[in-house]
Amino acid sequence: MERYSIITDGNPREIMLLRGNGCKWRRCSFCDYHLDFSRDENSNFELNKKELSRVKGIYHCLEVINSGSFCDLDEGTIKRIISLCHEKNITELHFECHYMHRDMVPAAKERFRSEGIKLLIKTGAETFDVHFRDDILQKGFEYASPVQIAEYADEVCLLFGLSGQTADSMMSDIRTGLDYFDRVCINIMNSNSTSVCPDPDVISVFDHKVLPLFKSDTRLDILHDNTDFGVGTKIQEVLR
Ligand code: SF4
Repeated sequence: MERYSIITDGNPREIMLLRGNGCKWRRCSFCDYHLDFSRDENSNFELNKKELSRVKGIYHCLEVINSGSFCDLDEGTIKRIISLCHEKNITELHFECHYMHRDMVPAAKERFRSEGIKLLIKTGAETFDVHFRDDILQKGFEYASPVQIAEYADEVCLLFGLSGQTADSMMSDIRTGLDYFDRVCINIMNSNSTSVCPDPDVISVFDHKVLPLFKSDTRLDILHDNTDFGVGTKIQEVLR
């Protein structure tokens, strides 16, 4: 699996897919990313240390994802990230975090701020339709409003291409995301090992009716394929 990439478009940054001790939610109906984990913290640290050595610092900005939340990373990896930021003059760091860990964000931001690093948090709300999000997708966001989510998160991920979504619902989600968050990352549903499948008709609606209205917005990232950032793996490899 590829764990390092450089994103040159829109918001240039390096991106690193590290391994933690596992998403603590693990119940999102569409997700199998959480399979990338190990309970062996030493093994995680060794893998993460090796992968982090590839970071160059070219944009002074690094996004770290780990198929869960930043608090699933071992302390050795966190310390390595801090020293890497100093070595490579990285001043902006992006982590991901589920709603359930929102209370850990202020201390994490303060810890990195004291090291001269601005920490920004991305969260996978997927949609602002709370019934769809928390009853159908089982996201565990406790029916939180955009205001409540924006209290801990700076950036939001949306998931499109699911049966039941419409042009209006997707446009509404994007507009809400842009109103409340610095950046919006749209992921189009890909086939994976869960029973949730992409809906080609909804994806077509997105491509033809929604995307043309927003594609020039530099605050949007759009991933038609879950490896479009250059990291991660396809379903065939997950199942091997
Ligand atoms: S919180 Fe993220 S990693 Fe965990 S199950 Fe949901 S989508 Fe997957």
